[in-house]
Amino acid sequence: MKRYVIAADLGGTNIKIALVKDENRIVKKSNLSTRAYKGKTSLISALSNACLEIMKEAGLRKQDILGIGIGAPGLIDSKRGIIHQLVNIKGFKEVPLKDLVEKTTGMSVFIDNDVNVMTLGELHHGAGRGAKNMVCITLGTGVGGGIVIDGRLYRGSTLSAGEIGHMPLNEKGPNCNCGGFGCMEKYVGNKYIVEVAIRKIKEGKKTAVTGLVNGDLKKITPEIISMAEKKGDRLAASVWEEIGGHLGVTVAGVINLLNPERIIVGGGIADAGKILFEAIRKTVKQRAMRLPADCAKIVKAKLGQDAGLIGAAVLVRLKGK
Ligand SMILES: [Zn+2]
Repeated sequence: MKRYVIAADLGGTNIKIALVKDENRIVKKSNLSTRAYKGKTSLISALSNACLEIMKEAGLRKQDILGIGIGAPGLIDSKRGIIHQLVNIKGFKEVPLKDLVEKTTGMSVFIDNDVNVMTLGELHHGAGRGAKNMVCITLGTGVGGGIVIDGRLYRGSTLSAGEIGHMPLNEKGPNCNCGGFGCMEKYVGNKYIVEVAIRKIKEGKKTAVTGLVNGDLKKITPEIISMAEKKGDRLAASVWEEIGGHLGVTVAGVINLLNPERIIVGGGIADAGKILFEAIRKTVKQRAMRLPADCAKIVKAKLGQDAGLIGAAVLVRLKGK
């Protein structure tokens, strides 16, 4: 019986590979450095070899493996298994990744956008369990989204749905590299969070943040702001309140549009925790329509760093759907 799936999470820095037993038990993991490979051909063959290796190391054969699931950051045609373009990994344009890895490994391969894959993971094994309609938001350098309608991932007409980070938040806002301007990502991304903190410090407000970076404001990160907030720092708290407010406006729009029962927020920034979630909830209460807002629970993602791997395993079990 095929009880195992090989899951891969292709990132700008690392490629994580895991052997997943049954539904969601990660029994073995390995790691490759994305930057160690120059060009897509060597990277794809390293990925394929690592998949075969993790299987052999566990004493398994191809007939024990249901398939390989791969999540990657970018525009992906999950139906045909083609990568249109990747974010943070150069040289991947119109690459038939599914066919290439299938040829080298002799196993079935399913691929999808990393946020869709994470959404599947949270839906089946994390904070989304039991939900039929939900939206997943990942916060980091960029902001990603995954949409589940009637228990299934909604991918859209060109399979590119879910770009919550590029929903316009300000008609006259700054240019965004997506081609639009005033995108939500510009108001809640890592870079902006640091800018808000620096602006507040320059206004002359006292804060522990300055001490944590020894006075070098360039060293401020969202993690440091979080650290200060958890020690009761008022300025740090006000940064998260502001960011949560921006997020809340977008979440209110998403709630009015899709009427989801759950909104899952993950990614590094979600670790800011209670203060951020309270600000999101408060704004949603003020801004969203009451009936859908009362039904939508806004919760933190559960699977953390493993979401992409668990989700890639789900993708294989769903045969790419
Ligand atoms: Zn944009």
